[in-house]
Amino acid sequence: MKLLLLSAYLIVIAIRFALDWINIRHRQKARQPLPDAFAGQIDEEQLNHSDAYALAGDRVGFVEDIVGVLLTLLFLFGGLLPWYDHLITGFSDNFIFQGLLFFGLLALVQLLVGIPFSLYKNFILEEHFGFNRMSLKLWSADLLKSLLLGSALFVLLAGGALWLVQLAPQSWWLWVWGFWVAVSIFLLYLSPYLIEPLFFKFTPLAKAELETEVRDLLEKAGAHAGKVLQVDASRRSGHSNAYFTGIGKVKRVVLFDTLMEQLDNKELLAVLAHELGHWRCGHLRQRLIKSQLMALFSCWLAFTLLQVHVLPGWLGLEQLSFAGQVLVLGWIGSLLGFFWTPLSSWWSRRHERQADQFAINMVGSGQELASGLVKLARENLSNLFPHPLYAAVYYSHPPLVERVLWLEKGRVDTNFIRKVVADQ
Ligand SMILES: [Zn+2]
Repeated sequence: MKLLLLSAYLIVIAIRFALDWINIRHRQKARQPLPDAFAGQIDEEQLNHSDAYALAGDRVGFVEDIVGVLLTLLFLFGGLLPWYDHLITGFSDNFIFQGLLFFGLLALVQLLVGIPFSLYKNFILEEHFGFNRMSLKLWSADLLKSLLLGSALFVLLAGGALWLVQLAPQSWWLWVWGFWVAVSIFLLYLSPYLIEPLFFKFTPLAKAELETEVRDLLEKAGAHAGKVLQVDASRRSGHSNAYFTGIGKVKRVVLFDTLMEQLDNKELLAVLAHELGHWRCGHLRQRLIKSQLMALFSCWLAFTLLQVHVLPGWLGLEQLSFAGQVLVLGWIGSLLGFFWTPLSSWWSRRHERQADQFAINMVGSGQELASGLVKLARENLSNLFPHPLYAAVYYSHPPLVERVLWLEKGRVDTNFIRKVVADQ
């Protein structure tokens, strides 16, 4: 079994690297002429610039991947895991403390390994291409805040789960799942008030006339957002976005200030109409339900496999603590998860197309969204020529050229919402 797991891991890594490789080759070799919507926005020089940006990202991503693979191999197959497990269990007899220490120290190592990459990406790569707007001080403050917040959530979620495992040894999978669902829904409510303001400043829209148009659009879409806000994303990066979040009464529309700099009002409203489409088509709810069902299944599977004590043997080990076994299981889960990626990307692209159709219905045509997306692609130096296979596996959105062509042909479809609901 150990050999089988090792081979499966190496095969997944090989497939991932092969996909990266064909994608890089494709980007450089397969430049087709761009549709008319791109004229005047993206020219040859711009494409070369995008390619240089993507290549720089690929290089650092490659080094980061190699480091990750080597550390994983060393830890799981190179004898580090039994040593570490022994060290932690020797430290304390307390089941909850053991578990927290086991995962907490590993997370800390992962964070430390990631710091040089984060510094390089923000202050060399993104800086070079003009995206970084963060000072070292802001970067450090972000790191410290996420560390504190992450630790608090970790102690709450992992500590609570371990406590339930101890309390209900025969049925903990259901209790742990229930606890996590409760906490995640609670956080969904609290996050806009407690967590997001730690990192970002939310203010009313600077363009007052835009707020009226946004509210008209919301009404047309049948949504009632409490607040329409802009967020100071430009303090950190030149990349841009918009989103519509929340459940129940705390729904709100948030526009990145960078998005407002880059798009005109009509394009902004089309982007927002797309975001509203996700909500109106029930995508947010579906995603939430899907992830909770996956969590339930994972909890049950973990419980079942931990009951029969097969996991240590799978790695050729005599014994492993509870936390050690959960770690191995999580790793196997992520390995299997890779084969799930194309399906989940396909599902996501289907949702994006539905949200695009919703935007066309709201705005009257696909032109505004298309021209907005082209501008964003220019500003973000997006890759316009992904390899079809790479896009099929990883892309959560349809590739831009295909998407723009589709939007330009798009027509209002009054039966659309009915069809989407019938589909579900
Ligand atoms: Zn979308």
